[in-house]
Amino acid sequence: MNIDGNSIAGKIFYDIAAEVREFIKKGLPPPHLAVILVGNNPASETYVNIKKKRATECGIDFTLLHLQEDTPQEELIAKIRETSNNPAVDGLIVQVPLPKGLDEKKALQEISPDKDVDGLHPLNIGRLVQNEDSLLPCTPAGIIELIRSTGRDLNGLNTVVVGRSNIVGKPVSLLLLKENCTVTICHSRTKDLPGIIKKADLLVAAIGRPEFIKGDWIKEGAIVIDVGTNRIEDKSREKGYRQVGDVEYRTASGRASYITPSPGGVGPMTVAMLLKNTLKVYKEHRAL
Ligand code: NDP
Repeated sequence: MNIDGNSIAGKIFYDIAAEVREFIKKGLPPPHLAVILVGNNPASETYVNIKKKRATECGIDFTLLHLQEDTPQEELIAKIRETSNNPAVDGLIVQVPLPKGLDEKKALQEISPDKDVDGLHPLNIGRLVQNEDSLLPCTPAGIIELIRSTGRDLNGLNTVVVGRSNIVGKPVSLLLLKENCTVTICHSRTKDLPGIIKKADLLVAAIGRPEFIKGDWIKEGAIVIDVGTNRIEDKSREKGYRQVGDVEYRTASGRASYITPSPGGVGPMTVAMLLKNTLKVYKEHRAL
């Protein structure tokens, strides 16, 4: 069965919009999300447009600060500091990847941790490691919501995460550990990946390689969360490409009990969690 990320995210957007309307009725200003985008990466522009559309639909003010591709590091840092210190801004994100030559790590560290609605600041990641309340990274938090939607008991569930990036693999592994799953983390040096995946009751694939995980590696009845968003050429489409995940969906969906499609699975949840974090920060700033 498909896990419908669009519909689960839609419910979250609906609830956020309702809450924002209540605050506005009480005479409060709307929450405010600012996004810094550097350069003209078409995929990044698409993601930012989706964030803008959803934020606006939820009644959240959205400011896009679009900087030139050749913006020097110091100028970027100054813009992040200025926006982060602006009391009218509740949440701030820097859209990644940044153009070559800019230091992503240094840039992200300049965001005030209490406005870091992407949840990627080292302080928020540190809090997550220590099981303290923090702003959770959006894609991993969205993945947990999708898994919870299946109603499956996660205690002790044999879970395999493929990928160990700072934005998906590592933080989602920590969140799954918090949910009492028994977590195995795999990466490009892992030996016998198919053998490990075949034992997984829950698989999270975050690799970035089109349909790399084959359907016959999936254990019967497993839950499969496919984070991959890979574009492959398809001249029959208007855009000239189509999106596929990291898992061979057609064959895997015949074996999995639940599976996320790509697109339409994890992607919408990432945006939903971003707006949820923005509302959380807004309420904390105003002690609501
Ligand atoms: P990264 O490139 O940062 O990390 C990829 C991970 O996959 C690495 O840990 C790498 O291992 C591992 N890997 C690569 N090749 C293999 C292999 N042959 N076998 C096992 N592991 C392998 O990617 P991200 O984590 O940023 O993203 C992963 C995917 O998720 C991408 O398709 C991305 O577009 C998508 N994504 C989707 C989001 C959404 O909202 N839907 C949000 C974020 C990402 P090693 O560490 O050893 O190199």
